[in-house]
Amino acid sequence: MKIDIVEMTPTKAQFVITDANPAFANALRRTLTADVPKMAIENVEFHLGPIMDEKGIAFESISPLFDEIVSHRLSLIPIPTDLETLNFRAKCSCGGEGCPNCTIMYSLNKKGPCMVYSGDLEPIGDTKLRIKDDLIPIVKLAEDQALLVYATAELGTGKQHAKWQGAIGAGYRYFAKIEIDQAKCDVGGSCVKVCPKGVLTKEDKKIVVKHPEKCNLCGSCMEVCDAGVIKVVPVSTKLLFRFETDGAMPAKDILIRGLKILEERFEALREQISTLEE
Ligand SMILES: [Zn+2]
Repeated sequence: MKIDIVEMTPTKAQFVITDANPAFANALRRTLTADVPKMAIENVEFHLGPIMDEKGIAFESISPLFDEIVSHRLSLIPIPTDLETLNFRAKCSCGGEGCPNCTIMYSLNKKGPCMVYSGDLEPIGDTKLRIKDDLIPIVKLAEDQALLVYATAELGTGKQHAKWQGAIGAGYRYFAKIEIDQAKCDVGGSCVKVCPKGVLTKEDKKIVVKHPEKCNLCGSCMEVCDAGVIKVVPVSTKLLFRFETDGAMPAKDILIRGLKILEERFEALREQISTLEE
C-alpha cells in the first residue's frame, strides 16, 4: 500500500491510496473519526452570585442562555492539541487529578453588554494554548449581566463524544479508469461539454483525459457519446481519501496518529492469531 499526498494543510488533507482496498480505507476513516484523541472542554464551573468589577460595581452572574447550553458551546470550541505531550487524564501520572500533561484550564470573565467569543477564554498558564479560532460566538450578555467561568479541557475520542472528534468529514472514493477508443472516436466533443468536473479536453483533434483524479464516476460522458467509445470503470484498488479538521491539531498529526493506531491493532491481531496456530 502506498499513500501519495495531494493536499496537506493544517485543516485539510487529501491523498491517494494505491494497492489498497475499500475495507482498508474504511478502517482508516473509522480510526480517524472515532479513535484519534483530541482536547475538548469537559468540565465547566460557573461562578454564582454577584461579580464585582474593578470599580466595585456589582454585576449579576447570569446570561440569556442556560448554563448547560453555554457549557455545550464551550465544549465544541477547538482546543489546541499536542498529541506528543498530552496524556489521557485517567492514564496520566497525576492519577487523574489534573496536571499540565493531561488538562488545560481556561478562565472566562466578561461583563455585559457584550458578545462573549471563544477568544475570551484565557488559558491559565501557557499562553500558547490560547484558542486560535477566536471569533466563535458563545453568548450575548445584556447590561448588568456577567459571566465568570472556569473550564477544564482534557483528551477524549470521537467514540465518546463528537466534541473529541479529530477528523471531520472523512471519506473516500474510487479512482476512475477512463478509456477512449481513439480509432472509433469522431471527436464530436459533447463528452467534454457534459462532464461536470472538466475531466476531458479536446487537444490536437482528439479527446484527452486531462484530470482523471477529478472524475466522480457520474457516467455522463458515456451516456452522451453516440459512438459509445468511452468507458469509465471504478478502480477499487486506488482510492482518493480526504478529511478536514476543526483546527485543534494539524491534519498531518491526525493522519500519522490514525495510521499508528491501525498498525498497533493489526499487530495485536497478528499476535493473537499466532497463538492460535501453535
Ligand atoms: Zn495529569
